[in-house]
Amino acid sequence: MPHFIFHRRGRRRVARMAAWSLIALLAACARTPLPPATLQWLCMGTTAAVSAPHGEEARLQRIRAAAGETFAEIERDLSVFRPASTLAAINAAAGSGIPVPLGAHAAAAIALARDAAAAGGGAFNPTVGPLMALWGFRGATRTQPPDEAEIAAARGRVDWRAIRLDTLPDGTSAASLACTDMALDLGGIAKGYAVDCAFDRLRATQETDFLINLGGNIRACGTPGAGRDGWRIGVRDPFRRDGLLGTVTLADGEAVATSGNYERFVELAGTRYAHIIDPRSGRPVRGMAGVTVLAPTAAAADALSTTLFVLGAEEGRRLLERTPGCHALWVTDETPPRLIPSPGFAARFAPEQIRK
Ligand code: AMP
Ligand code: MG
Repeated sequence: MPHFIFHRRGRRRVARMAAWSLIALLAACARTPLPPATLQWLCMGTTAAVSAPHGEEARLQRIRAAAGETFAEIERDLSVFRPASTLAAINAAAGSGIPVPLGAHAAAAIALARDAAAAGGGAFNPTVGPLMALWGFRGATRTQPPDEAEIAAARGRVDWRAIRLDTLPDGTSAASLACTDMALDLGGIAKGYAVDCAFDRLRATQETDFLINLGGNIRACGTPGAGRDGWRIGVRDPFRRDGLLGTVTLADGEAVATSGNYERFVELAGTRYAHIIDPRSGRPVRGMAGVTVLAPTAAAADALSTTLFVLGAEEGRRLLERTPGCHALWVTDETPPRLIPSPGFAARFAPEQIRK
């Protein structure tokens, strides 16, 4: 399977993702006599899925086609693993001073990533590429964790303020990175952005009542059927592959995303390191198993779940207080794990739906 900026998974991982999506969907329709229909496919190195109410399979095919086209367009632009992508061109030109012209997707996604970095005080950092590579998330055959000097050197090349985004006279944009060996990595926001693009495209053609899921970045439109509640989504238990902690029901247009330490990790000298890096320390975050975020858009949920994974519950709750419409659940990586919901999440969470 080719490698993408998005989570790289083996076939077994994808099969597990498919099972998880199914569980989420079962949860979505638990109180309905006939389950919604779902189509799944592999895309951007993860599982994509669209759902629509039972009996609307022809419409679901149209939704699948539109979402598939949108995801493919965005992947061409934003995959760091595709040498022809815009992101690869920006990284290759880092430090040269030559701005790389951007298509609409790259311009929008980079601008959103910069906003997320600013909002989270740098906890979300789209220039985390050198640290991802250093810790072995870019295919290196490292067996020991990097030493202090290596971490300090890589941290010196991680600075979201060094992303330059210019508007050209014709109204298009161009981007560049200030220093050699810097590297953009939009893995923390690109899937959410892609879900929003598919959502907007479908809404523009008057589609309603559908669910889009790209690797656990989910956005809902309408309901799973006439007269039924909104789409009900299972929140995965980070410690049990097919287990759920509970469910949340999405309002029309709302999104949910989860960042998990089980999604992708490396094992160095017998210790597992998860794929989310704290840019302040230059080290993978420890002590957090998963963070689930409800937000008005999928890009916001995606960026915020990564941000709040880095910040933890205490600092994260302060950020949430200034972020309207967003709610989070932290699950700590300890025995037993602690579930820490923000007040807004607690009000929406249905733990009684746990399926053991
Ligand atoms: P997510 O699963 O949405 O939390 O995204 C995790 C991915 O975002 C990783 O696989 C990296 O590609 C990237 N990433 C890791 N750490 C950070 C960070 N601190 N800020 C932004 N992106 C990050
Ligand atoms: Mg994210």
